Amino acid sequence: MPEKALTLLSPIESVKGFGSARTEALSKLKINTVGQFLNYFPRKHLDRTTVTPISKLKKNFHSTIIGVVEASDLRQGKRRKYFQAILSDGTGIIKLTWFNGANYIKKSIKIGDRLAVSGKIDFYNGLQIIHPEYDKLQENEDPLNSGSIIPLYSVSAELKESGLDNQRIRRSIKLIFDLLIEVPDYFSDSFKKKYGLINLDQAIRNIHFADSTDKLNKAIHRLKFDEHFFLQILMALRRSSVKQIKTKPFKKIGPYLKIILDNLDFELTVSQKKVIKEIKDDMARSYSMNRLLQGDVGSGKTIVAILASVIAVTNNAQIAVMAPTEILANQHFKAFKKLLDNIQVTCATLVGGAPKKERKSILKGLENGQINIIIGTHALIQQDVKFKKLGLVVVDEQHRFGVIQRGNLISKGLNPHLLAMTATPIPRTLAITYHGDMDVSIIDEMPKNRIPIITKVVDQYRLSKVYSFIQDEVSEGKQCMVIYPLVEETEKSDLAAAVEMHTYLSEKIFKDLNVGLIHGRMKKTEKDSIMNAYANNEIQILISTTVIEVGIDIPNATVMVIEHADRFGLTQLHQLRGRVGRGINKSYCILVCRKITENSKKRLKIMESTNDGFVVSDEDLKIRGPGEFFGIKQSGFIKYRIADMINDGPILREARKAAFGIVKEDLNLEKSENSLIRNYFINEYQDKLHETNIS
Ligand code: ADP
Ligand code: MG
Repeated sequence: MPEKALTLLSPIESVKGFGSARTEALSKLKINTVGQFLNYFPRKHLDRTTVTPISKLKKNFHSTIIGVVEASDLRQGKRRKYFQAILSDGTGIIKLTWFNGANYIKKSIKIGDRLAVSGKIDFYNGLQIIHPEYDKLQENEDPLNSGSIIPLYSVSAELKESGLDNQRIRRSIKLIFDLLIEVPDYFSDSFKKKYGLINLDQAIRNIHFADSTDKLNKAIHRLKFDEHFFLQILMALRRSSVKQIKTKPFKKIGPYLKIILDNLDFELTVSQKKVIKEIKDDMARSYSMNRLLQGDVGSGKTIVAILASVIAVTNNAQIAVMAPTEILANQHFKAFKKLLDNIQVTCATLVGGAPKKERKSILKGLENGQINIIIGTHALIQQDVKFKKLGLVVVDEQHRFGVIQRGNLISKGLNPHLLAMTATPIPRTLAITYHGDMDVSIIDEMPKNRIPIITKVVDQYRLSKVYSFIQDEVSEGKQCMVIYPLVEETEKSDLAAAVEMHTYLSEKIFKDLNVGLIHGRMKKTEKDSIMNAYANNEIQILISTTVIEVGIDIPNATVMVIEHADRFGLTQLHQLRGRVGRGINKSYCILVCRKITENSKKRLKIMESTNDGFVVSDEDLKIRGPGEFFGIKQSGFIKYRIADMINDGPILREARKAAFGIVKEDLNLEKSENSLIRNYFINEYQDKLHETNIS
């Protein structure tokens, strides 16, 4: 046996059997060192400790079987070819069937192969598994022969081509373990004891080759903990770097706040009062506020932003309010202006298409401090926008912006306070993961005057009923919106569908009514004039692409029809639905399905059953997974190897407690006892270091 010589940092090509083809294929997966290779955790484990003899299989149960391929064949089905293999284990036979990738499977499965397979047991002219998980075994494949747990890796076509199939990966990892010097741990023994963690060396070995389920589970636990832990270290460091930023405290309250409150035509909810107090207290400290305000659509976040702005103005600071769309920016502008005109605070708006002259004078007003509050879109982060004394940044629908964009706006002031707002209520574990560096305020109560929206899922054949319902509502003086999905900017066909629908509805169905059309490709002036006409009830039915999605507030609108509802995520539907039900009348949301599957029906039923944004987003998250849920902007943020942010609640909380505990005692991880943690963190989060005080 050769002497132990490998460490986690050894280049992968120093391992026997890793020639240029394999090294190259691995490097595409960002695997260049032994450590990175060992961190390529199995995607799954085939538990051979619970293998079922074929004669004992039961329909619909998920089972693992080991047997030999007796026959195999590419066959012609009704519509396409499929591949079938017959597996026998001496107690019986079972068919393994692949409809997808039949040609590929044919190449990899041969008569005489010993396979471990697992999947749901089906019955169709005999026992069968469709698309089983499978793995080829060799008689002498050690240590996998003795009732052990077999790791299954993701094998991309490229890996496969370079010769790295499951068997090869297993063998290589086994080889590495034989030569690997014990992996040093970055956690101390007392730390591990406190959090019930096994050694890192053990964990890494057992995640690949465990000889019992218990050992495997302990390895999984340790490695999940570590992933959460280092992410939470990032959060804690980010937070401490923010908290360390001194800024001007907003101590003065002044007369403005009271004047505005006295002029409101509604009473603030208890929740609104609570979050306003949290914000007020936070801004009165000499460290920058970094706060996320969560509140369902219609819960009244705007007034909170207005009051925060008023406090900032009182303390002689400027305020920038950034919204994701022009329509929304305009609406905010109106809401702010309406209240702020009472106290002679100057408020302006800046969006992309602003005329040159107007833009110039606004820029001047911002630079010399004459404008107190500016409300706008991305236009606010352009380079030539400069402030005299930007002290508060408000970002509405903050998930629509990247961290960089937010940062760009913040950098225009001298450590301004930040209030980020979102109408996407996210479950607690996720909030910790994604916004772990922010303080969170939650409005969890709707204004009292709200009547719950009634939601109905209908299929396209019942549209005529829907139309006559709209007719009735409109004849009572109310208004309606019809939304078309525009999933991608490039999906022109959807825009075309909206245009077509507009023609159809205005010429055929609602001849006597004014039917308007609004979409993202219109000029700003055009959009404004249509929105104005709609706000004044000169247009009764408004057809729109999803430009209307966020924020729009027309209290007289009572019917929201969403076309192709099955194409939207639930959270988005909930946001859209929030456009109605803002006034005193009963409101309706009609979800039109044009291609309904069992699955989408089930999804949409959730919309019928609740108006609670938290419930909706919980379900949505379960269905779509975090990546899609958060959209493109943030999905690239964390790529977990093994941790799972939806199901790891307790581990995540422990890891967070541990990480924040360490950073609290050692703000920049400078103490020698934390040096290993620090090194590992730096290595793991190189691209995020600029968000911390560590370099
Ligand atoms: P969102 O939280 O979705 O941004 P908005 O701030 O736009 O909601 O508020 C929705 C509507 O509710 C607005 O017309 C606003 O004036 C009104 N509103 C806000 N707070 C209250 C309240 N406490 N009572 C009654 N109406 C309120
Ligand atoms: Mg809003």
